[in-house]
Amino acid sequence: MRFEDLGLIQPILKALADKNYEKPTLIQEKAIPLVLKRKDVLGCAQTGTGKTAAFAIPIIQLIHKIELRKQQPTTLRALIVTPTRELAIQIDENIRDYSKYTNLRHTVIFGGVKQGKQVEKLQKGVHILVATPGRLLDLISQGLLSVDTVKLLVLDEADRMLDMGFIHDIRRLLQLLPEKRQSLFFSATMPDNIVKLSNKILTNPTKVEVAPVSSTAETIQQYLYYTNRTTKKDLLLHILENPEINQVLLFARTKRGADRIARNLKKQYIKAAAIHGDKAQNQRQKALKQFKEGTIRVLVATDIAARGIDVDKLRFVINHDIPNVAETYVHRIGRSGRAGEDGIAISLCEPEENAYVRDIERLIKQKIQVIKDNPFPQTDKPMTEAEKKEWNKEKQRRKQEFFANRRKKQEQQANRKRR
Ligand code: AMP
Repeated sequence: MRFEDLGLIQPILKALADKNYEKPTLIQEKAIPLVLKRKDVLGCAQTGTGKTAAFAIPIIQLIHKIELRKQQPTTLRALIVTPTRELAIQIDENIRDYSKYTNLRHTVIFGGVKQGKQVEKLQKGVHILVATPGRLLDLISQGLLSVDTVKLLVLDEADRMLDMGFIHDIRRLLQLLPEKRQSLFFSATMPDNIVKLSNKILTNPTKVEVAPVSSTAETIQQYLYYTNRTTKKDLLLHILENPEINQVLLFARTKRGADRIARNLKKQYIKAAAIHGDKAQNQRQKALKQFKEGTIRVLVATDIAARGIDVDKLRFVINHDIPNVAETYVHRIGRSGRAGEDGIAISLCEPEENAYVRDIERLIKQKIQVIKDNPFPQTDKPMTEAEKKEWNKEKQRRKQEFFANRRKKQEQQANRKRR
């Protein structure tokens, strides 16, 4: 199938040609015609499948047609809500690219930065708005933005949205939106709470599903090193001796861990940077830009910060820590081998994580290839006293972090209720 076969208009086809997209991905093939027919869509797809274009392209086409006909003043017609600022920025960049031969106006709003510039852009008028939930509701409650005219709603990465505690924000937003509208709902996984939420949002939707979470992209080669906790650092340096690994997204479990890994790499003159929730927005953007340009070789990220990272042809992903939730592994390695490119995922497993590898292999229904040529293999030796002490300290720290996060979430919820 070609993009031309989907009934797309010339300005969009030309923009897609500029992006060197040759043919639609599966989710695009399925979703674009449905959205153009004004159907509600329940999309089960993860990042890397081309889902952003699957909703952005038909939205641009629908609004472009209305605008041509009515020549109305700029009215907000489509609202795209997504959990993280990185994702929001990237969706907006995609919209910019796909709509460059139309006169549509769009912008993006997200928290963590001053609102002035965002408000200025909004007040000049936009047709399409990409937003994270907090800043969106904040500007609405200040009377600086209205969603009364929205005819198209996209809820992107709904499962992440709930994981991040945005359910109340979404419920509030739904009360503010016109009931008569077209809605598109995307989620990588479809547990019960997501299905329930989608029922509230969608009317008679068509379900579109590609690559369910347990199916790791076929183009990704997966490798596993069994090692010890104390030798991960050296093993990582050994792996990075391979100059072919020139751009790698490395996952760390914690923010502190991410900082530590980046620091260690820099000490060895390997260009690295860490991105996570504690970093200022401009720091994160800078690191991402340098990574895309190739001036940073290793970008160390936590799972949440990495959600929005979209680097064309990212070949390497390293799991410095094995995630304890098997689905997270699938999300992580999905960052490589995007849109048909080949990708390589390398995981470093310490004894305490062996059970997580078993869970992952059960989920993806395949064995990950173990690398035997490993100068730092896992030993069966029990941990030394010093290692045990360090491990206990780390466990204690993780516990504290968990409770601190929970407290923060509870406070946020209490604040919201008070408002
Ligand atoms: P997404 O799943 O929306 O995060 O998209 C993943 C990546 O695939 C992005 O880098 C897109 O620019 C790229 N992409 C989306 N659609 C296509 C296509 N039809 N052909 C080639 N690349 C695409």
